[in-house]
Amino acid sequence: MDIKPPARIAPILEQIERFHAAEVRPREDKLRHRLENHREYLDADGRLHPEVQAARREIMRAAGREGIFSLHLPQEIGGGGLTRHEMFFVEEKVYSYGVGLNPAMLAWTDGATPRLMFCREEQRARWVAPLVAGEKTCFNAVTEPGAGSNLFDMKTTAVKKAERWVLNGHKSLITNPFEADVGHVLAVTDPGKGAHSFTYFQFDTAAHLGRGFRHGRVYKTMFDDGLTGEFFLEDLALDDDAIIGERGGGFQIAMASINWTRMRRAGMCSAWSKYLIDRTVERMRSRDVGGRPLGSNQGVQWMVADMVLDWAQARALSLACLQAFEASGPWWGTRRSPEDIRNIALIKLSNDESFFRVADRAVQLHGGAGIMKDTTINKLFQIARNLRIPGGTDEVQRTTIAETLGLRSRGE
Ligand SMILES: Cc1cc2nc3c(=O)[nH]c(=O)nc-3n(C[C@H](O)[C@H](O)[C@H](O)COP(=O)(O)OP(=O)(O)OC[C@H]3O[C@@H](n4cnc5c(N)ncnc54)[C@H](O)[C@@H]3O)c2cc1C
Repeated sequence: MDIKPPARIAPILEQIERFHAAEVRPREDKLRHRLENHREYLDADGRLHPEVQAARREIMRAAGREGIFSLHLPQEIGGGGLTRHEMFFVEEKVYSYGVGLNPAMLAWTDGATPRLMFCREEQRARWVAPLVAGEKTCFNAVTEPGAGSNLFDMKTTAVKKAERWVLNGHKSLITNPFEADVGHVLAVTDPGKGAHSFTYFQFDTAAHLGRGFRHGRVYKTMFDDGLTGEFFLEDLALDDDAIIGERGGGFQIAMASINWTRMRRAGMCSAWSKYLIDRTVERMRSRDVGGRPLGSNQGVQWMVADMVLDWAQARALSLACLQAFEASGPWWGTRRSPEDIRNIALIKLSNDESFFRVADRAVQLHGGAGIMKDTTINKLFQIARNLRIPGGTDEVQRTTIAETLGLRSRGE
């Protein structure tokens, strides 16, 4: 089961180890009082505390300088050129450190995403390079109060008026809307054209704040991320060069982007599941109940065995799917075979659900100690519960898998 990383990845994993020790761990030590206390982790408004935010940004920039932050992107735009299969091991390494500041080592939805691959040559210096380098952050705004699982319900519009695009809408449940330097927004430009109705726009958030771009509330999520919120577009005026890719090409870009999010679940959930398994085994060995270690009870042993089964199955499935995916062109490509689409949905569904079951058992086996907020066990449980919603819910993944098998509820 212990499927090893390819040889070319070994020095990168060592580099990450050194980077974590030099750049991440010292900042975590300094901010321990905030990282281990949800009241200190957020500010009075419920947003990520500025000190935590600043530390994350410092790590992103340092990781950018070291060439770690964008290892997943192609070299032609400044990335490391790793395949998704190779990135599995990088992501597994980065998340193996738990839930401190370590996730900031790698680009996430607020950083260098595959949407950048669709920017034109002349857009690269201004819009792409700073995100690839971790110098700036962005948000990806697709969801709206009335459009989540089905983006065809979208109401945000971009209408061409006297040479400029005028955007209006309300985007909700967005990661990083308050801190992002760059906004990526999906809007309807060509209603009634099915998948060709949507266009992606990018804009400088600071330049438009109060001038067409207005922050809404921050959401109090169950995992206290302090990063999720809403915003409003009120006659936001943008030029043609704000378009990412082509007019009408937004749906394909959104799917390329979301596919990346889904595939990224594999290394992340594997690492966090293993983290929980290791700590649970440790606890089952050291915790005595009724004069003997908890782990000597067969009922407990079977629960631990089920945790390992869930982790190992999702990991093996993910690696097989990612390997199959390598053979079918660039991972950010917009033309995917039904098998590719199914594999991506299988990765997200299997990882999200198995990680959730692992986390649930870890909490149960830790007893009252697992219920306490501000423990890593509990935090990972909250995160695991959350993961089953963003990036396409469990149900959306099941529907996608069924559709690749020719089962459709509408049309055809
Ligand atoms: C922490 C967090 C961060 C997020 N970050 C972003 C972000 O950065 N950018 C962004 O654009 N969005 C983001 N989202 C939004 C996320 O993508 C949506 O929440 C998700 O797609 C589900 O949409 P919804 O919440 O509107 O639920 P709904 O679409 O209302 O669905 C509710 C429930 O019904 C189920 N359901 C829906 N349709 C069907 C069906 N046909 N058959 C069976 N069941 C169905 C769903 O699976 C779900 O369980 C984020 C969400 C969260 C929680």
